[in-house]
Formats: sequence, structure tokens, C-alpha cells
Amino acid sequence: MRSHYCGGINESHIDQEVTLCGWVHRRRDHGGVIFLDLRDRDGMSQVVVDPDTPEGFALAEKVRSEFVIKVTGRVRRRPAGTENNSMPTGQVELLGKELSILNAAATPPFPLDEHVDVGEDVRLRYRFVDLRRPEMINRLRFRSRVTSYIRNYLDGNGFMDVETPILTRATPEGARDYLVPSRTHEGSFFALPQSPQLFKQLLMVSGVDRYYQIAKCFRDEDLRADRQPEFTQVDIEASFVDEETLMGLNEDMIRSLFKDVLDVELPSFPRMPHAEAMQRYGSDKPDLRIPLELIDVADLVESVDFKVFAGPAKDPKGRVAALRVPKGGDLSRKQIDEYTKFVGIYGAKGLAYIKVNDLSKGVEGLQSPIIKFLGDDVALAMMERVGAEDGDIVFFGADKTTVVNEALGALRIKVGHDLELLTSEWAPLWVVDFPMFEETPDGSLTAIHHPFTAPSCSVEELAANPATALSRAYDMVLNGTELGGGSIRIHNEQMQEAVFRILGIGEEEARAKFGFLLDALKYGCPPHGGLAFGLDRLIMLMTGSSSIRDVIAFPKTQSATCLMTQAPGEVDDKQLKELHIRRRKSAKAAEGATSGTLAGAEQAKSE
Ligand code: ASP
Repeated sequence: MRSHYCGGINESHIDQEVTLCGWVHRRRDHGGVIFLDLRDRDGMSQVVVDPDTPEGFALAEKVRSEFVIKVTGRVRRRPAGTENNSMPTGQVELLGKELSILNAAATPPFPLDEHVDVGEDVRLRYRFVDLRRPEMINRLRFRSRVTSYIRNYLDGNGFMDVETPILTRATPEGARDYLVPSRTHEGSFFALPQSPQLFKQLLMVSGVDRYYQIAKCFRDEDLRADRQPEFTQVDIEASFVDEETLMGLNEDMIRSLFKDVLDVELPSFPRMPHAEAMQRYGSDKPDLRIPLELIDVADLVESVDFKVFAGPAKDPKGRVAALRVPKGGDLSRKQIDEYTKFVGIYGAKGLAYIKVNDLSKGVEGLQSPIIKFLGDDVALAMMERVGAEDGDIVFFGADKTTVVNEALGALRIKVGHDLELLTSEWAPLWVVDFPMFEETPDGSLTAIHHPFTAPSCSVEELAANPATALSRAYDMVLNGTELGGGSIRIHNEQMQEAVFRILGIGEEEARAKFGFLLDALKYGCPPHGGLAFGLDRLIMLMTGSSSIRDVIAFPKTQSATCLMTQAPGEVDDKQLKELHIRRRKSAKAAEGATSGTLAGAEQAKSE
């Protein structure tokens, strides 16, 4: 139908006849001549239609924004002084001779060139229009370039693209499953995969040796910002490899990807043990662009009268840490109040601070409401510990370790951005030596990565000290975002059973849920490991987008709905009956809030 894309004509086409198809971005009637900006996924061209071509001119008068048209004409140089240097096609224009309207369009729900003020709800409702905006289509194009780069890289390194089932059993990755009722097996459900974890391990048992898949994963979580119920992973697994090989290969893939598509030379990735990351940055995905660190001061405040500090200092599960912010002394009372509110989100009950006005004056040179509770010596010792200098502010966190880490860890990032302290554009690293397990509030242990991750110790050592055992897991972190994570897996049945036991998964349950895995481990399972990258987040970082929704063609809202298709939607009683499901009104629905939805759907005996 066309000879070129709208964005593809330039001075080399002058005097040639071309045919363009696309959407009318804008129409300007300059009395006598009509200008149409014609747009397609590749860009925009200016089309001029004048009354010398009466038929075309009559049609051009009729077209409106977003009409779909086809124009044939001759490319010519724009008259001197009317060039647009900010457009690749800005030196030329198309003198339209033949024009046809391929389809009319209703007035668009929002103007495509003034999107900035459009609410996200409208954009999501009319996503098909929203995606026409150049920045949106360019993100999709970028995403496609990244996936094709990754595929080529992995293909070139002997990886095989293998698809794994979407209708499956639950794979425990720590989130709630999306369930699909079985029509043919009354009372039974499929689960959508939270990841292809077990299948990729089974492919290793099958001898596939190197597997990858760009895989959709599903997790029914209460959505925090920048989570999606369905998301995409670049899922990778390999046999007869150790963590060095896997980390090396994946680091090389990401570095060459950045070089190829962004022309960015990432530095080589330092490795940091998990314990060190928590200690220094309060986070297992530290943003190393920010040069601020948490410094422990518990030993200095153990015996002060100030309970707010002494309590957590003496508590084995507590932490007292300081965060020195160079030149933070200029922060106003109001800003400090805002930071206090901010750390409150993470459970901190307050935000103590000391301003360093003039160290040469000793404690007189410090300014803080807490010095009188700490005593002069302790205050000065703390300043020495953190290496304070005149003009600094030092913040403190004192609470349970998790609260201090989360609150000061987040504050570190916020202050770093607010005061523009970032030292580089990209700061990647590997976080390694994760603990195998973490304690839940009820005192039981859960797997930090997943239950198939190999510990770095023997079965006996693991059984003796599960809480302190380390795993062979690794996470790739970039600018404070976890890009991907993985581990060397358990390939030995006894070890797998030991881990299940520690997790409180009894023999019977393990058999029922993971019998196929335990069987596979018996039939010649090679040592193997892998990892998965979160593709959406990777694209978001690479494109500098502020929301994950902006890099997904058809994303869900934060409450896990699709505003365009109105999913999840109602289903009729006949369908439910076939699925052996009877509606039960949830308390909310009973109050009339969401009648007719599946909230609280209950498995019913067949009627
Ligand atoms: N299945 C893991 C995840 O989704 C990744 C891996 O261990 O390869 O986080």
C-alpha cells in the first residue's frame, strides 16, 4: 500500500514519488493550502495539498485528527525558512497529488500531542490510542530491540528457547497464585506459574543443558507501586555450571546489551555479600550511586539513659545506626519534619538528628534535641565514629534491625536524590551470600530465594544451623533496583528433603506437591543453576521511564484491573456451574458494593 514510512523520507527522496499511509496528527488550513502532519510508528511527514489537485484538496478539507489516510505525491524541499531541524523529515515535504481516506476517526479521547495532562486512567482506557504517541511506541520498539538482543545473545551462547506450561501447579515463589478452575476435574485447580522455576530445572534433568525463555509470570499480590500481576521474565537455566560461570555470562549479556542499545559502558559489577549490603546500606539492593552509608553506633549508646537508643542497642534483634549527610546542616526544620514523616512510612517512630555546626567547639558546636539525653561524651564519640565534618547533619535510627534498615535505607536514597549527591549514572553490582532462610513473625523459617536454592553447606550443617546458613543465590542490582536473581539449585534429593523439612513441609506434603521434582532428582539430575531477569523493570530502567506501566503495552492498574477490557469481568452462571463453582457474596458484596463479582467464590459440590 505504501512505499515508505512517514518518518523515512528525507532529502535523498527529493523529486521521487512516494506513497505514505498513516494517521493525521494535525491539519492546518492556511487558506488556499492545507498542511497535514502524517504520522505512523516511524515518525511524521508534512504533506501539502493545494487546490491545483481539486479532488485531493476536497478530501484534505474533510480529514480530521486521527483519520487514517493514504497519500501519493512528490517529495520536495521545504521552502527556505520553513525547515524544521528538530524533525528527521524536517527538510522535505510531500506535495500530495492523490489522497484517499482509508478510515475516518471519531474525535480522539485526548489530543495526542498534549498528552502530559491526560490522566493515566483515560490513557489506559484508550490504550490503543495512547500507544500511538511517539514516546509510547518508541518504548515498545525499544523493548522489542532488547528482547531480540537477548535472544540473539543467548542463542549464540548455546541456549535453547523452550516454552513451559501456563496451566500448571503452584510454584512457590512466595506470592499468592492465580488459580484456574478445572472443568473436567471437579474441585481441582490449575495455578498460573509464578515463574517457570521447576520446569526449567526439569529441563536440566532432561539434558537440555542451556535453556531460556521470555516467560510470562503471574503473582497475585497486593500491588505495590510498580508491580504488575502478570509480568515478563527472561528466564535462564544451565547445567554443569557454578555461580562464577552464570554470573559471568549474565553480566556479560547485560553489559553488552547496554553497549549495543544505549551505547553505555557499564563498569564491571562488584560483588557484595548480603550481610555487608544490609549493614552499610540497609538494603539487599543498594543504590551505589549514592555515597551515603549506615554506620553502627549501638555499642556507644548501650548504657545511656536514653531508652529510645539504649533499648534497641541492647536488643539482639535491634539496631542503632547513623547516617551522615555531608552538607546536610542546611536542612530546614520543615525538611527534617518531612523526612521524619517519610521514615514513619517504614515504621520508624521518629528521626533523631545532630547538626554539626562547628566541631572545634566540641559539643557546643553540635545542635540537637537529643544531646542532653545522650551526654556530651557519647555525642562526640558518635561524631567521631561517623567522621562528621562541619556543615553535616547526622540522622539516627534506633529500633528493630528491620525497621532501622528499611527506614534509614530509604532515607539514604531520598536524601541522596534530594541533595543531588549521585556520583554516577549507572551503578551495578552482584549481591551474593544471601542467607538461606529468614524468620517470619511466628518464628518459623521461610526461604529467602525459593526452596530449590542450594545452601553453601552440607545437609548436616544445614540441619544443625538453618538460621545462619548461607545460600548459593545471587542478585543482579542496578541503581537500587533488582534486575534479576537466581541461584545454584539443589540437585540432590536428601538436600531437597532437608530444606523442605526446615520449611515445615512434611514428607507427605512434599510428595503431594513436589513429588515430580523429588522423582526427577532421583533419575540423574545434573548440577545446575540459573536466574531470571525482570524484563519490565530492565526496560523501565533503560528507558528512564517512571512507571512500569509505561513499558508494557497493555498493563493492569494498581488494583490489578484492565481498564480497557474491563477485566476481570463477570461470568454467567452457566459457565460457573460448568466449573463447579457457586458464588458466595463477600461481606462487601453483601453490602451491595460489588455484587455479581467472583469475590469470595467458593468451590461447590456439583448441583
Ligand atoms: N525463579 C526465580 C524467580 O522468579 C528466579 C530463579 O531462581 O531463576 O525469582
